[in-house]
Amino acid sequence: MNKILKNVFALLFGIIIVSCATVPITGRKQLKLLPDSMIAEMGQSNYATFLKENPAVSPPTRQSSEVTAVGIRISKAVEKYMKDNGLSKQIEGYKWEFNVVDSKEVNAWCMPGGKVVVYTGILPLTKDDAGLAVVMGHEIAHAIADHGNERMSQELAVQAAGIGLQVYMQQKPQMTQDIFLSAFGVGSQLGILGYSRQHELEADKLGLVFMAMAGYDPERAVTFWQEMSKVGGSKPPELMSTHPSDERRIAQIKAFLPEANKYYVTKP
Ligand SMILES: [Zn+2]
Repeated sequence: MNKILKNVFALLFGIIIVSCATVPITGRKQLKLLPDSMIAEMGQSNYATFLKENPAVSPPTRQSSEVTAVGIRISKAVEKYMKDNGLSKQIEGYKWEFNVVDSKEVNAWCMPGGKVVVYTGILPLTKDDAGLAVVMGHEIAHAIADHGNERMSQELAVQAAGIGLQVYMQQKPQMTQDIFLSAFGVGSQLGILGYSRQHELEADKLGLVFMAMAGYDPERAVTFWQEMSKVGGSKPPELMSTHPSDERRIAQIKAFLPEANKYYVTKP
C-alpha cells in the first residue's frame, strides 16, 4: 500500500471514530475530526493570547458589567439545559469568562470552554440586556453545538488530504491556528470559513432556548436581527459578514418562537 493511500485510510479511520456526535436541541448528527480536549486546549490558549493583544475593558464599566451579568445568566441556563438533558459531560471543562474589548468592530464570539468576547462596537446595536442576550446566547450556542470543531474538521480534511491530519497540524502550526480562529469567528484570517448558513440557523435556535431559559424574551431576537439587516451598507460589520441577516433568518426565528417560549421564564 503506498503512503498516500495509507494516510487517506488514517484520515477516514479518524472520521469514523469521532463522527458520532449529535447537536443538542436540533439533534443533527455532525462530523468532528478533532478531539474535544484539543479544541478546549486551543480555546484556552487562544483566548489568553487574544486578551493579551486586545486587553479587556478594565476596571469594569457599566456596559462591561452588563455583559458579564447577562453572560452569567445565559451560562447558568446552558448548564441547566445540559443537566436536564443528561448532557453535562459535554461542558464539563467549561470555565466561563466574559470580557468586553474596546473596538469599533461589530462583533462577538465564544471560544470552546465558554470563553466569550463582546466588542464595544456591537453595544449600540444590542441596546439593552435582552439584545445582549440575543447575541451572547447565539455565540455561546455555536460553542455548545461544537460548530468550530466541525468547521475546522471540514477545512483540515481538505488541507490535509494526502498527508494525514496529525502530520499536517504538526507541519503547519500557524495555519492550524488561523483555521481555529476563523472557525470561531475571530476576525477573518483566511477570508473563508465563518459559520455556514446551517450553523447560523442552528445557533439561532439554541440561542433562543438559552436566552429564554435565562429569563429574556426570545422575541427580542426578531427586532435585533431586523435592525442588523439595516446596518449593512457598503461596508457591512464583521458580524454581518459571518451572520447574514435576512428574511429567511428572521422567518425561521419567528417560526421557532413558540418552541422557545416554552422555556421562557419571566422570573429566573
Ligand atoms: Zn453565528
